Amino acid sequence: MIPGPFSYHRPATVADAVKLLSTLGDEARPLAGGHSLVPMMKLRLASPEHLVDLHGIAGLKGIRRDGNTIVIGAMTTQHELLASDEIGLSLPILDETALLIADPQVRYRGTIGGNVANGDPGNDMPAAMMALNASYRVEGEAGERDIPARDFYQGAYATSLGKGEILTSIRIPAPADGHGYAYEKQKRKIGDYATAAAAVVLTLSGGKCNSAAIALTNVADTPLLATEAAVALICTSLDDTAIAEAARRAQAIAKPTSDGRGPADFRAHVAGVMVKRAIARAGERAA
Ligand SMILES: Cc1cc2nc3c(=O)[nH]c(=O)nc-3n(C[C@H](O)[C@H](O)[C@H](O)COP(=O)(O)OP(=O)(O)OC[C@H]3O[C@@H](n4cnc5c(N)ncnc54)[C@H](O)[C@@H]3O)c2cc1C
Repeated sequence: MIPGPFSYHRPATVADAVKLLSTLGDEARPLAGGHSLVPMMKLRLASPEHLVDLHGIAGLKGIRRDGNTIVIGAMTTQHELLASDEIGLSLPILDETALLIADPQVRYRGTIGGNVANGDPGNDMPAAMMALNASYRVEGEAGERDIPARDFYQGAYATSLGKGEILTSIRIPAPADGHGYAYEKQKRKIGDYATAAAAVVLTLSGGKCNSAAIALTNVADTPLLATEAAVALICTSLDDTAIAEAARRAQAIAKPTSDGRGPADFRAHVAGVMVKRAIARAGERAA
């Protein structure tokens, strides 16, 4: 339960952090809230020789609107998301998701950037980001680039982040006024990762669904965008048949492993149930 030895660095700018990470190479890791990385270090599942703490970098925190885009600094904590009027008004699915992450202690310290950059399929925010079609702004020695959340996850703990790159912000197109949303998560107890969870964002027009996105948490090596499931909702009134078909399609792409949360077929079944509930609730909320 004691981490291996490491050197601690606290850069004051993104450029300095990038330089440190590039120079120190694979033995260096960014440190954000530390609520995934430090437990891994204590279990000796990770043994970085250098930690590059991002807390000293002004400008990595905060939530602002840039035209029709909401920009969230990578070092913004889950608690700060929950306290934000902008998030409550424009992106209420993030409030709903954040409240299902662990407990207040973890949410006070854990950051949105750490949650999405970690690459753990059990993290809840990536599915919400995929449903919202967010993109991640990253900075490395070659400069800045934006990576769509939908392209970011490559495997368990494997992401599109390049060597020495850090995530600086998350950029989310504001969903339409009156959109419906829901994040449904089944967990064994407070503070647990999902047995399965589903994020849904949709819009209705004249009682018919005219846009929908569905994403799944913890039922594969990566969060999954359930594209065909969302297609099953388009031009429907979100009736029981349409919802059942969307859930069936989502369940079909779920490939969980058997673990302490249940056998694989049970966890895939739970994914279908979460999708059904999330669509129904998103439909009720859509104006
Ligand atoms: C008891 C407990 C229960 C939990 N339950 C849940 C849960 O139900 N759902 C859930 O989603 N999470 C859960 N978590 C994890 C928690 O949300 C973490 O805070 C989160 O996964 C990581 O965010 P962090 O800021 O703590 O990042 P850290 O732990 O500091 O970093 C995580 C990883 O991301 C990298 N990283 C961090 N920031 C950046 C950046 N800006 N750029 C590039 N790489 C970066 C780090 O190098 C590291 O590899 C739980 C944690 C605990 C301790």
